[in-house]
Amino acid sequence: MTQDLFAIPIASMKGVSAPKAGELHALGVSTVGELIEYYPFRYEDYRVRALHEVKDGEKITVQGTIAAHPSLQRFGGKSRLICRVTVEGLLLTAVWFNRAFLKEQMEVGRDIILTGKWDQRRRQLTVAESEFPDRGGGRSGTLQPVYSVAGSLTQAWMRQKIDRALVEYGAMIPELLPAELLNRHDLMPRREAILRIHRPENTHEGQEARRRMVYEELFLFELKLQAYRALNRKAPDGIAHKISGEEIRAFAAALPFELTEGQKQVINEITHDMKQPFAMNRLLQGDVGSGKTVVAAVALYATVRHGCQGALMVPTEILAEQHARSLGRLFEPHGIQAALLTGSMTDRKRRDILASLQMGMIDIVIGTHALIQEDVFFRRLGLVVTDEQHRFGVNQRSVLRRKGLNPDVLMMTATPIPRTLAITVFGDMDVSTIKERPKGRKPIKTYWVKHDKMDRVLGFIRREAELGRQTFFICPLIEESEKLDVQNAIDLHMTLRLALPDLQIGLLHGRMASAEKDAAMSTFAAGETTVLVSTTVIEVGVDVPNATLMIVMDADRFGLSQLHQLRGRVGRSDHQSYCVLIADPKSENGLERMQAMTDTDDGFEIARRDLELRGPGEFFGTKQSGVPDFRLANLLNDFAVLEQARDDAAALTAEPAFWSSPAYAGLRDHLKREALASGEPLD
Ligand code: ADP
Ligand code: MG
Repeated sequence: MTQDLFAIPIASMKGVSAPKAGELHALGVSTVGELIEYYPFRYEDYRVRALHEVKDGEKITVQGTIAAHPSLQRFGGKSRLICRVTVEGLLLTAVWFNRAFLKEQMEVGRDIILTGKWDQRRRQLTVAESEFPDRGGGRSGTLQPVYSVAGSLTQAWMRQKIDRALVEYGAMIPELLPAELLNRHDLMPRREAILRIHRPENTHEGQEARRRMVYEELFLFELKLQAYRALNRKAPDGIAHKISGEEIRAFAAALPFELTEGQKQVINEITHDMKQPFAMNRLLQGDVGSGKTVVAAVALYATVRHGCQGALMVPTEILAEQHARSLGRLFEPHGIQAALLTGSMTDRKRRDILASLQMGMIDIVIGTHALIQEDVFFRRLGLVVTDEQHRFGVNQRSVLRRKGLNPDVLMMTATPIPRTLAITVFGDMDVSTIKERPKGRKPIKTYWVKHDKMDRVLGFIRREAELGRQTFFICPLIEESEKLDVQNAIDLHMTLRLALPDLQIGLLHGRMASAEKDAAMSTFAAGETTVLVSTTVIEVGVDVPNATLMIVMDADRFGLSQLHQLRGRVGRSDHQSYCVLIADPKSENGLERMQAMTDTDDGFEIARRDLELRGPGEFFGTKQSGVPDFRLANLLNDFAVLEQARDDAAALTAEPAFWSSPAYAGLRDHLKREALASGEPLD
């Protein structure tokens, strides 16, 4: 009876041949359980409607009475059956094509249900399907599910197989949610909800069924997050850092600038967490240029003073090199050893660093994904910081986390997710936010122009150069071909060298050797080149405060958040900065994005619009954020449910009974399965 529906192969169902099973598999349906949870994406409406609600050309179902004997016209092998029918006291003409056999059944005074296309002007219905209610058991009055089908699978076949699965296995659908939650939110039992989502009696029932399943989906998602959080809280097996406020203040005082209030605030939140015997799991959000790096530096400093090592993981080598340089400078006077570890190092150098790390001669290591290779060992890892965390998969982070004895973890991101959404989506983390940028920063002036304004763009570069400022010139990444992409950059570089012969123009792209890239970046950072032509390899993190002009070629090819990141490469000093987007006005959706960019340079507002334009699925990018693709739920529309689900999941996992009572065994099993699937064991 408690057989797992997800263990019954679909091919074992009657009428599902091997080729059909193959086609179902392609739709993600391999088991009976998956078939039952293959929900319709809409319903075909066969419910009887009132004529006055109907618009011209709509497909409708109405009920009426046959008013006169039908007439039949034949032409060639075809036929047309015409009949006058009274509907709501109104006489209308119903027309059937090639259904001559119906003529005999049309007795005057008999009730009939007609489905077809309504022609308002001629008061005529072209009938697609008709039924006599005195026969009973028809389609009319119902909502028929419409499934996404492909290949040789038809709608009718799918309906039939799902109906059959529901009849045969419906009784085995288990309940997952605790009764108290069903009661509190007035939710249907699971079995009923699944039956009704496929076969609703009416719209309300369909909505209620969907509401139940959306809640379940979001609740199970939150339960996993909250369970990790609760487990973490239960086990005081993290590192209780000893941190002296005085030392932190001294370190801050040695910085070349004064920390902003926002920076001080988040440093307090972070060090408070680090002092606790629980492992920190904190997300630091702050718009581009808000000064997150120095916050990471303070936290890394704190772990080193406690006698631990720190790791800073970043998504690109360029960023790793930059952080290694700037943090190296910060830490050196304090006698703290920082080292770089990237994939492009020579074996010999790499072995050296690995040995020093393991022996504890290196305090802080800064690197790319090279940090999570199997042969990297720490003597005592106390804190892991990931910069631009949205660029990392969830697994990559947990691998690094497991390299230490439950080290503290700080994740930083400038892809600002609306705060409420972040707290919920990253429900297992605490969230800190830096709101303001350092004092004296002026808003970046943003313009968008067409390609024919190149002369003015060149004039702009020259003017900034005369003021001693520098320019980034970005060419787009062409998804299909990195080669083309590189060629673009090389061509643009040549064009600019010819057009601006008196300026030093650098070039940076993904196909260059690491040493070359580093050289291009550091000459630009040192002000030896005035313009840097680059692909999006500099999209995140790069910090050259003297650069004040960001030009993006073919800006309509970029996403909104990406454009905002690129713009964030300027505006990092007191100088007025500019962003010029060169875009094709005819591009699809391009103008909306250009408009959003010129309207605001607030990353949170940009994120909101991006979310709106792209929808949550793409916005979060399943792999990168760890946010799953929900089957039914939509993070924007169902946000209130998500919040409710989070609160419920948090309350439940905080109860000791959740971890032991047989009443919750089903949920615990579900969690274990999920945990195994994600590679992050629960205990
Ligand atoms: P992001 O948050 O985008 O990572 P960074 O940490 O790269 O920002 O900081 C942006 C720039 O602002 C850097 O040049 C950094 O040195 C500088 N900066 C950071 N904090 C302050 C501050 N409190 N006052 C002035 N400049 C600051
Ligand atoms: Mg940064």
